[in-house]
Amino acid sequence: MEYYVVALEFRSSKRYIADLIRAYAKKHDISVDVVQRDQKILLIFDDKNSIDSFTKLLDAVIPVSIFLGKTTSYILEEKPKIEEIDEPKIPQNLAPCPACQEAMFDIRSRHYYYPFTSCNNCGPQAPFLEKYPFARENSSFRFLNPCDACKNELEKNPLRVNYPLISCSQCGVALRMVDKKSERIANDGPTYRKLFEVSAKVLSKGKSLLVKTPYGYRRFFQIQKDKTYDAHAKVMFCDANTISKHTLLIKDEFTALLSIERPLMRVATQSEELKEAFGSSILAKYPDEGMSMLLAYELALLGVEYIGYEDATKESEADYLVEFDLPIIAPQESTLFVNQDKKAIIDGTKTSFPALVKTALPKAVVAHAMVSFPFEDTIIIDSMQRACDLEVEQLYVLEGDDFAKEHPNAKIFKQSHASIMSVLAENALLSKDAVGVYFDDNIEFLFCRANKPMTIIPSIDVDCNNFWQDIATLRAGSDRLVENFKKKFPEIYSTLDNSQMNANAFEIAAVIIDVGQVNLEGIAVEALKFLGKAGLAIDTHIKDNRFESKAFLASIISYKLAGVEQELLCYSIFESIGDYIADGALQLCEKSGSDTVALSGKNIANQILYGRLKKKLGSKNIVTNIEYPLSKENALYGALYL
Ligand SMILES: [Zn+2]
Ligand SMILES: [Zn+2]
Repeated sequence: MEYYVVALEFRSSKRYIADLIRAYAKKHDISVDVVQRDQKILLIFDDKNSIDSFTKLLDAVIPVSIFLGKTTSYILEEKPKIEEIDEPKIPQNLAPCPACQEAMFDIRSRHYYYPFTSCNNCGPQAPFLEKYPFARENSSFRFLNPCDACKNELEKNPLRVNYPLISCSQCGVALRMVDKKSERIANDGPTYRKLFEVSAKVLSKGKSLLVKTPYGYRRFFQIQKDKTYDAHAKVMFCDANTISKHTLLIKDEFTALLSIERPLMRVATQSEELKEAFGSSILAKYPDEGMSMLLAYELALLGVEYIGYEDATKESEADYLVEFDLPIIAPQESTLFVNQDKKAIIDGTKTSFPALVKTALPKAVVAHAMVSFPFEDTIIIDSMQRACDLEVEQLYVLEGDDFAKEHPNAKIFKQSHASIMSVLAENALLSKDAVGVYFDDNIEFLFCRANKPMTIIPSIDVDCNNFWQDIATLRAGSDRLVENFKKKFPEIYSTLDNSQMNANAFEIAAVIIDVGQVNLEGIAVEALKFLGKAGLAIDTHIKDNRFESKAFLASIISYKLAGVEQELLCYSIFESIGDYIADGALQLCEKSGSDTVALSGKNIANQILYGRLKKKLGSKNIVTNIEYPLSKENALYGALYL
C-alpha cells in the first residue's frame, strides 16, 4: 500500500500548528495522521483523494508562523511509526488564529468583539495561568463559569474541546473604560464594540489611551506629524494592506510580522511621514491579541493607518484607561531578527516560553527570574511565578543570581557557557566539537568538546577610573590625541573623566560618539542610517588573550576628531567587530579542527555584523538559536545540558 505524505518544515518543538491541523481534520472528518518530529510536521494520508481538499482548507485556517518553512510531498511504501503524544499541555502566547479572528468580527457570533476569544491553539493563554498543570482551576479564569454554549463547545468543538480558558461575550471578562469624569462598562457584543469605537475615536483626536492587555499595559498615542520620536517607541499597524506603503519589507519580514507569533521587528521606513517622525527605521508590530486587534480595527475604520505605543504600567499617565479585572503574568515582548532566509528571536520571553523539554535530565535551573523544572517526565521552562517543584537533586543557578545564597548546594554556571550549549542542543550538535562566540554586552570566544564549554578568550569591562590617562599612554602620540579631544569635545571628555563606573567598551564608544542611547543598541540605530557600502577599519585586536578595548576606543576617538560622520563611524564599528569575530572564530576552528561555529547573545542580531559573519565564515557551519532567544534566557535551556 502507498501512503501520501505532505511535510511542512516547522523549526520549533511547540505543538500548536500540528494540533490545530489535527483539530481541523477531526472537525471535517478527514482521515490523516499528523506527526511532528525532527523539525517537521508530517501529514500522512491513506487516501490520495483527501489531500487536495484538506490542504486547500489548511491554507485558509492555518496561520502563518515564523517557524514554518517549505512544504514538500512524497509517497511512502510503508507507514511510518506513529507514537501517541504523551506530554503535558503548556499554555501559549499567540495571536488569535484565523477562525477565532473571524468570529470576533462576525455579528452572529458569541465572540463578536470579544477580546479574549481564543482556542486550544491560539490566543494569549499563559498570562492567565497561575500554576501547573494547565487547567481552568489553576488560572484566573476559575472565577468565571462557562455559559451553556461554551460548555457545549468544550465537548463538541474540536478546536475548543477541553479548552481550559474557554469564554465568550456571554460568560467572559468584562471591560471598563475610565477617564477623569466617567466610567463605561462593556460586557456583551454591542457594549464591547461601543467601547472600542469610543477608544479609537479619542485616540484619533490626539488623546492618549492606556490599555491593559494580556501581554501587559500598553500606552497608545497618535503619531503627530511635526514631532520626532525616540527609537523605543513602537508603531502598531492597523491595516495589513497599508504596511508596505509605510515600510520597506522583504517578503519574509512581512509574513513574520503577520505570523501567529506576531513578533516586534525593527524594519526600514519608507513613507515620508514615518521617516520624519522616526528616522530610517521603526519597531513595527501588527496587533497580537484581542484588545489591540479590536482597537486597531476601529482605528482603521476611522482612516488611521498606524498608531504609536509604548510598554506601560498600571500607573502610567494617560487621558483614558481601558482595563479588566483578571490578574495576569505578562511576558516580555519577543523581537525577531530577519536576515535573508535567517530568522532568530533576539530577546523577550513571549514566543519562546513557556517551553517544554523532553530530552533532558531531571534537573532545575534558575536564571533571570525564570526556572526550568521537572514536570510529569518533562521539563517546563517558565516564569519563576509559575514554577512548581524545585526539590530536585541537581539545581543549577546562574552565576551572580541571589537564589544561590539560599541553596548552598546549587551548581553555579556561566551565562555564556549555558547560552552556547543552548545553540548546540537546539541544532542537535551536542556531541560535536564546536567553536562558540557569545556577544551580549561583551564578546567571548569559547570552545565546546564532549558537552563541556570552555572560555578561550574572556570578555572584560573597561575600567574608567583612569580612562584618559590610559588612552594617553597607549602609544607614542596618544597624549596629543587626548589633548585635542579635550579641546574639541570638553563635555564628552569630562563625562568620561569623572566616571567611577566599570563599563563595557561599547557603552564608552557610545559616549564618545555621542549617540542618543549609551550602549551598543544606540550605535546600532545610528549605523542603520548609513547608506554607503563600506566602512572604515577600526582597531580590533587581541592583546594578552583579551580584546584590546583601549586601542578600539582610541581608534574611535581619532576618527571622531578627524570629523568622520556619526553614521559612518557607527556602521564601521559593526563591520570591524564582525571581522574581529569572524577572524577569531576561523583561527579557533583551525586550531581545533572544528567546522561548527555556534553564535549566541543578542548583539549577534545586527544586519551589518551578521552579514559580515556570513560572508567571512561561509565555509563553516554557522548555527544560532532557533526557538529560544539569542538573548540571556536561552541559558534556562542550555544549562539543562551542562
Ligand atoms: Zn483559535
Ligand atoms: Zn460563553
